Amino acid sequence: MTDPLSTPTRIWTPSRVLVTRSAADHPHSAEILRRCEAAGVEDIEMLTGDRLTGLRGENERQTYALAKKTLAVVVAPPSARKPQPIPPSADWRIDLARGCPAHCQYCYLAGSLSGPPVTRVYANLDEVLDGIPTHAGRGAVTSGTLERGHEGTTFELSCYTDPLGIEHVTGSVAEAVRRVGAGDYGDGVSLRFTTKFDDVDELLTIDHGRRTRVRMSVNADEVAHRFEGGTARMPARITALRRLALAGYRVGLTIAPVMPVPDWREQYGRLLADVAEALRDVPDLDLTVEIITHRFTESSKEILLSWYPATKLEMDESVRSAKRTKFGGVKYVYPKEAMAEMRSWFLDELDRVLPDAQFLYWT
Ligand code: SF4
Repeated sequence: MTDPLSTPTRIWTPSRVLVTRSAADHPHSAEILRRCEAAGVEDIEMLTGDRLTGLRGENERQTYALAKKTLAVVVAPPSARKPQPIPPSADWRIDLARGCPAHCQYCYLAGSLSGPPVTRVYANLDEVLDGIPTHAGRGAVTSGTLERGHEGTTFELSCYTDPLGIEHVTGSVAEAVRRVGAGDYGDGVSLRFTTKFDDVDELLTIDHGRRTRVRMSVNADEVAHRFEGGTARMPARITALRRLALAGYRVGLTIAPVMPVPDWREQYGRLLADVAEALRDVPDLDLTVEIITHRFTESSKEILLSWYPATKLEMDESVRSAKRTKFGGVKYVYPKEAMAEMRSWFLDELDRVLPDAQFLYWT
């Protein structure tokens, strides 16, 4: 009998797939199309040019709905292939895709991607991954540092997508994990990504060489239940984390976005206890913890309200503190006292419940 908790709860399959002319020439497109066909996608359109067309519906709602059902196979231009610094998570960011089919009402992509929220997967995977050897040994977050030097030069895959959410129709993560695990880019590099999905079966079969850290994005039940549409349920994510850890992966928690919901201590306390219980007997466990509080900007708020006009997500500037970003914009975070109170509670609780976890940052 199949263990119900090991069955992925959500697997996204696009209703339509668009392949640009340039993307069609890349070998990874054949793998993407093979996976899409195997997943039952019937509407696959080979475009005659490189411009994506037909992305808009008659109104914002329709455009959003259409975009979230579409996978576009495109070529990453050189500007999108150059690894970028991504503190405090990793030395460098490389993107296998841009966009995500899930429906989180606080989605952190809202302010950073323009146009209809179509998921674009990169067909020129070889060129995208070529950024790894050119940047190996460089970087300020993990490379050569005392606390995280053992991770080598780190490459973050989940800045502009949830890579596992689209994996069964793209195969990009599996290929990247396999190559890095085999040492194709040297011994001193590692991959990391965070996800809200639990479809880990394929990853469990890969010879990953312990050079990939998979972090589960986790949250209090109330936050996940109300705001994280189209993602795997929390118990399924925690089970997936356990399965990855048992398969020898380095793992992690991305507790995000933390919100001071009414009984937040009980809710986050329960979450940490569930994780501790799931990982209790995992041999050689390597677990990190990153904690990110909820924040928004004027532009992300505007976009999120156009996508989710009825959202109950608190985005009220008057109860937040304005903080200047390094790009000159303003983000709204929780006031200093609330931040300090939550931070101190989380650190104490982690010490108590997950004493062997390495805490990486709070922001
Ligand atoms: S899973 Fe992540 S990227 Fe996808 S919608 Fe949710 S917050 Fe956005």
